[in-house]
Amino acid sequence: MNKFQIITLFPDYFTSPLKEGLLGRAFKEGLMEVSFSNPRQFTQDGRVDDYPFGGGDSMILSYTPLKQSLESFTKKGYVVYPSPQGRPWSARKARIFAKHPLITLICGRYGGVDERFIRDSVDEEISLGDYVLNGGEAAVLTLLESLSRFIPGVLGNEKSAEEESFEGIGLLEGPQWTRPRSIEGHQIPEVLFSGHHEKIKNFRFFASLVLTALKRPELITDFSLQKRLSKAQQALKALSSEELRALGLRPVDLERSDFFTNGL
Ligand code: SAM
Repeated sequence: MNKFQIITLFPDYFTSPLKEGLLGRAFKEGLMEVSFSNPRQFTQDGRVDDYPFGGGDSMILSYTPLKQSLESFTKKGYVVYPSPQGRPWSARKARIFAKHPLITLICGRYGGVDERFIRDSVDEEISLGDYVLNGGEAAVLTLLESLSRFIPGVLGNEKSAEEESFEGIGLLEGPQWTRPRSIEGHQIPEVLFSGHHEKIKNFRFFASLVLTALKRPELITDFSLQKRLSKAQQALKALSSEELRALGLRPVDLERSDFFTNGL
């Protein structure tokens, strides 16, 4: 079982998200366990923040209530502080974190937390991206959602996580369609109805490779993948213009020699 301890001023923030969907089932079935500690409970007057030294508009979470909140747990495990100053979160990190038996997550608020607490108690700072959230709770939920997918038993089918974006060779997943087959004139690539598994697999790989190259070129670092791009470009030329439209492409795009360098 994977255990999580969350330090937050707003434990109610988690009530509904931890009850819903796959995450909810994981907690219900005991695959994951969570407990909370509120730094406010470790103060005489309920005050958990103070003005920043040197001036500034935002209050800073004080060292002592955070430290006492952390020490209220029997074991600390791996201590993670989501923060804009952390290392970027990724599927690769989610997979690693899913192997930790015990993780304590610190939710910052206001202007952040006293740096001395980070120096003393935090093992890793994690950033969700180059933007600022109002508090760490949404970040902690995102970490839990994404790492839970790598905890055995959380997804019904273990292979689901392996087939998704960023897994395997690190491409984005290609487009998916479901019934009805025809709606408002949209046409779906015929190969998907051929029953020919090898052809379907190739089509999916080429679509995923080409669309990753266009949407997130920085994900294609592997030289062998770069070499397979022109083959994928050629293969997609066999599609009708309607089928290409289903992928968000036009025949003219596939004729361009600067297709992958200048994008669409
Ligand atoms: N003053 C901080 C700064 O400029 O870097 C931002 C503080 S933010 C308003 C309050 C809390 O939200 C942070 O302490 C952190 O826990 C969380 N947070 C905000 N943005 C985040 C991000 N991109 N990734 C992870 N956590 C974030």
